[in-house]
Amino acid sequence: MEKEEKLAVDELMKFRKKGSSTCIECGAKAKEKRIELDFCKTCAINFDGRVRMLNEASNIEALDKYFSKVVNTINSKESYDNEAKEKVIQYFNEIYNERKSKFLEYEESKKKEGVLYDVKGNRGRSLEVYANKIVIKTAVTVGSIISGNMTDGKKTIYYKDVIGLQYKPCTTTVGFIGYLQLETASPMMNNDKSNFFNENTFTFDNTTVSNELMEEIEHYIDEQLNKIKSPLISSADEIRKFKGLLDDQIITQEEFDEKKKKLLNL
Ligand SMILES: [Zn+2]
Repeated sequence: MEKEEKLAVDELMKFRKKGSSTCIECGAKAKEKRIELDFCKTCAINFDGRVRMLNEASNIEALDKYFSKVVNTINSKESYDNEAKEKVIQYFNEIYNERKSKFLEYEESKKKEGVLYDVKGNRGRSLEVYANKIVIKTAVTVGSIISGNMTDGKKTIYYKDVIGLQYKPCTTTVGFIGYLQLETASPMMNNDKSNFFNENTFTFDNTTVSNELMEEIEHYIDEQLNKIKSPLISSADEIRKFKGLLDDQIITQEEFDEKKKKLLNL
């Protein structure tokens, strides 16, 4: 190639890289623009997908994961010059920071309300865990309509009313869906076809919350239940002992009643 000719090609390449006619990611013909950079249709869709991924992250963990994925992707593209790289990463960084501060703000406000855990499940459900109760919220979604579980509402379950705790992690054998259920003595008002759909159940899959976090939550609730239940059990045992003493006429009915009242904190 003649020197002059090569120079012309270099100029052209420079133009094509910075210019308006080729996609910055793949070099195909550019038809769209994102943040003043040229993209072909496919790469523009990819770009929008990255934006969506960040905007739709359901928690900080997911947001962090997606953001580093986006940065790695952009950094690995040789077609970007440093200026373009900086521009794109800066753009995503702003979305990331805004989302993150919103999550942190939300967490802070939840903490003030006494919420210890706040997780999103599937079928429009979310779970808030407090020291003395849980709240399962249900919003109507496409999923909840399909499952016939369209109650838009809020179910509060106090640990003191709980008679059983069921937990199943999210695994492939149950169609990727896990659940946490607090059984109460009162009849379940909602659709109770199965464990997955009744109103005392929080269902989740690993796109919304990790098994690790759910196990931590289950463990926490179990601990709270034990704290509430064990003194009752030991009181009941005590009362039984005194009932034996009463039956054997070692203590009087009056003395027994007094003991019982004391043990039950009445
Ligand atoms: Zn492209």
